[in-house]
Amino acid sequence: MFAQDTISAIATGMSEGGIGVVRISGPDSLRIGEALFRPRKGAALGSRAHRTAVYGVVWDARGQQAVDEAIAIYMPAPHSYTGEAVVELQCHGSPLALRKVLSLTLQAGARLAEPGEFTLRAFLNGRIDLVQAEAVMNVIQAKSERALRVAVQQQQGGLSAKVKQLAAELRATIVQLEAVIDYPEEDIEELPAAEAMAVASRVAAQIRVLLAGAKDGRVMREGLRTVLVGQPNVGKSTLLNALLEQERAIVSDIPGTTRDTLEEVLTVKGIPLLLVDTAGIRETGDAVEKIGVERSRRQVAQADLIVLLLDGSQALSEEDRALFEQVKDRPLIVVLNKADLASKIDPAVFAGEQQPIPVVRLSAKTGAGLDALTEAIVTLAVGSGGLQAEEGELVGSVRQEGHLQQAEASLASALAAHAAGLPLDCLIIDLRACLESLGKITGDNASDDILAEIFARFCIGK
Ligand code: GDP
Repeated sequence: MFAQDTISAIATGMSEGGIGVVRISGPDSLRIGEALFRPRKGAALGSRAHRTAVYGVVWDARGQQAVDEAIAIYMPAPHSYTGEAVVELQCHGSPLALRKVLSLTLQAGARLAEPGEFTLRAFLNGRIDLVQAEAVMNVIQAKSERALRVAVQQQQGGLSAKVKQLAAELRATIVQLEAVIDYPEEDIEELPAAEAMAVASRVAAQIRVLLAGAKDGRVMREGLRTVLVGQPNVGKSTLLNALLEQERAIVSDIPGTTRDTLEEVLTVKGIPLLLVDTAGIRETGDAVEKIGVERSRRQVAQADLIVLLLDGSQALSEEDRALFEQVKDRPLIVVLNKADLASKIDPAVFAGEQQPIPVVRLSAKTGAGLDALTEAIVTLAVGSGGLQAEEGELVGSVRQEGHLQQAEASLASALAAHAAGLPLDCLIIDLRACLESLGKITGDNASDDILAEIFARFCIGK
């Protein structure tokens, strides 16, 4: 089911660089490539050995003016990223030249690719499944080495293989149950049903392991949203700087950063942290400050982890207590800063909550005790048991997680139906529903709407 039209886009970033690539994919890609690109020496692109680099020049439409020098590579179907005939023109990384080359491909008959359309075509041509397509995006957006490693394993089919294996077990079971219904012999329904339920429980357990890894997967992709709260002057900025220095992290600006909160990304023991410094959550009469406080409250509500910073050299104030009350039911670490000064806060005052709250004493100024904080963060991030799922089987998107939850619910329903003594048909309906949810993960039965939604999150050129 190859596409009829030929698409084209700039596949690299739109900033200046050494090289930039215009990718053309579809039945007309060779004709279009040959129309603009002339090799410096020798035969036309299509007559060369396939998938070899050919040096030459991209010419304008009338063949009178050189637009850029380039290397062209022709990859006939199906041996390309999309599975279609592809021509890649490696030009210089000049936004102007790349746009010019792109517009020449459009004049020659290509259509500008939609976001993610190259990867969509790879999926439609059966080169990759949906988990692998989403993994492409996870690779491109990886924020830590670990996230990259996980995404590459997803791309190579680790998670897909696991999901397909579970689906295959279920499918075999369903076939057996249907045979029992089609060829009923008296009273032998119970044995196959019991066997089927053993399979269902086993598959459900494995789905639960995958789901347990879903949070780890999300943290790996997006970073753990860690919100730093505390009164002015307790040392929030000092702590932030100390953490950044200790981890020697590459600090990046996050788009959409609000003026009164500061977001930084750093990696703590392989876990990306999205650290948010709030303006401080206090009751206030000042209208402007109220807006800031409201935003901080929202940050706290969205946080995966809250670090409450207190000045340990001062007695606990009413405001500190109020702050603690607001955040104590969230995943929380209390940090008593300024441990280089005499301590005025007894950590025991934070004991007695339902969930024990880790309390760390440190000095942001001298760096003493910082390790204990990063340890506490890692423990809370991945749980004390460490990662439960195999790294290569970490769930790669919220979409995948949702289908796994549905699959598990269908199995639970099948097990309940069996326990209630319902007939085999009822079990089969639930098992089929589970199979369908698993199929949606890899995209065996994905609708156009679902595909459009997934690939719209890609950029043009991918
Ligand atoms: P923020 O308002 O919460 O961001 O607090 P700052 O980071 O600006 O710190 C307020 C003051 O406390 C500054 O004078 C810091 O030098 C000081 N400070 C921060 N951390 C420590 C610490 O661990 N020990 C001591 N003695 N002073 C600290």
